[in-house]
Amino acid sequence: MSTPVRVRFAPSPTGPLHIGGVRTALFNYLFAKGKNGKFILRIEDTDQNRYVEGAEDYIIESLNWCGITIDEGPREGGDKGPYRQSERKEIYRKYAEMLVEKGHAYYAFDTAEELDTRRQEAESLGNTFIYNWYNRDHLNNSLGMDQETLKGKLENSDNYVIRFKAPKDETLVLKDRIRGEITIDTNILDDKVLFKSDGMPTYHLANIVDDHLMEISHVIRGEEWLPSLALHVLLYRSFGWQAPEFAHLPLILKPAGKGKLSKRDGDKLGFPVFPLEWKDPKDGTVSAGYREEGYFPEAVVNFLALLGWNPGDEREIFGMEELCDVFTLEKVNKSGARFDPDKIKWFNHHYLQQASVSELVDRFQKVLKSNRIEVSDDFAEKVIVLIRERADFVGDFLELGGFFFETPQTYDEKAARKQWKEDTNRYINEIGDLLAGLPEFSSEISESVVKQWITDNELGFGKVMPPLRLALVGEMKGPHIFDIMGVIGQEETVARLRRAVEVLG
Ligand code: GLU
Repeated sequence: MSTPVRVRFAPSPTGPLHIGGVRTALFNYLFAKGKNGKFILRIEDTDQNRYVEGAEDYIIESLNWCGITIDEGPREGGDKGPYRQSERKEIYRKYAEMLVEKGHAYYAFDTAEELDTRRQEAESLGNTFIYNWYNRDHLNNSLGMDQETLKGKLENSDNYVIRFKAPKDETLVLKDRIRGEITIDTNILDDKVLFKSDGMPTYHLANIVDDHLMEISHVIRGEEWLPSLALHVLLYRSFGWQAPEFAHLPLILKPAGKGKLSKRDGDKLGFPVFPLEWKDPKDGTVSAGYREEGYFPEAVVNFLALLGWNPGDEREIFGMEELCDVFTLEKVNKSGARFDPDKIKWFNHHYLQQASVSELVDRFQKVLKSNRIEVSDDFAEKVIVLIRERADFVGDFLELGGFFFETPQTYDEKAARKQWKEDTNRYINEIGDLLAGLPEFSSEISESVVKQWITDNELGFGKVMPPLRLALVGEMKGPHIFDIMGVIGQEETVARLRRAVEVLG
């Protein structure tokens, strides 16, 4: 039997989750769900200095909004918990010491000043200081130190760290599910700090220990972690543990195609880089989020899925379930994926057309209320049906269909000059009389009556329809004229025709 698939999304709660982080979570989720696996959320909060109030809630709310369900996590629990590293503090020391015992790690007592001096010495010779095989025997650490001295130093609780002893003269062949084999010369590695004397592990140690204890089968994460892969593989080897499989996702690039899309790009480039709006707890600044900008989570998910992955054919529209079925790591690209804000809008347009009318009515009523417009759900629905095709967002409805809610106060001047001729007053007045006298009124009835009148009077449609539109809408836009009449009703239609004659005549 093959090992069960267990993946984890392991963000650090240092601020709002970047949209790239959502993509990482999504790819993990799709991979796991396609294999009946589990998706685990682990909060990597060992760096207390960078902890940001509210970030964990934000991460969880973002995943929920996208429909990424967490099987095990800080709120859900699970038998491999706790799922917050700050609550696992006690676990890590033992593993760091285990590596020291096995000869794969050592205590280092170098002070910050000592390390600074070394750095400056190296720089003055045009070199970079790397703490590793090349100089570790001459630095202030436990290598070659007798047990007595070491014990004394540790007891006096000098500021010490535990460093990994990276092997010398080895060629490592690392395997990545997306990038294939990567060869690394271990001599270029530095002896990374694994554990600090304040009792906290560093990211590297905590991450490996937790992935092992949580039985993570596949580590799927951003390309920025690729440089850590050699160390991580060596850590597994040193512990004598089976390493998970690794897959490093391509970078997300700015729309222009150059440079990584960063957290700071957001409001600067004119589109959100966060899933939800984020209010900075320190200075109160607000960064835009896709949810608040009116995006459907389905659109965001569909867009993110195609950011670095493709199904191998031209298909673009995918719901979450379908994505779980078709997603494979083999179809993830190596090269960076350009973030295209127009494309995500395009997806939103698509999902807006798919959304149920009742959902749209609910959302639209909120917009209307905030604009102090009160109409029945039935009326809102009729408007939506006529204009949704032209909208990317529910927020566009009012812009596209404001005239449904208010008699035009002004008329487009250029259009009026062009469309309102000598005898237009007469036509519009006569049509007004005709419509006012109808015992029943609907878009179909008004259409057949007006068209008949045009034919009977031997007039061209081009003489009558444009002024009618101008009278009803105030400009030359909007859906089918008779559909507008049907929605605003007989009385309002007639009133608008009368008013236009008054103002434009
Ligand atoms: N805590 C790391 C981060 O914030 C996790 C990296 C990993 O997935 O190994 O991205």
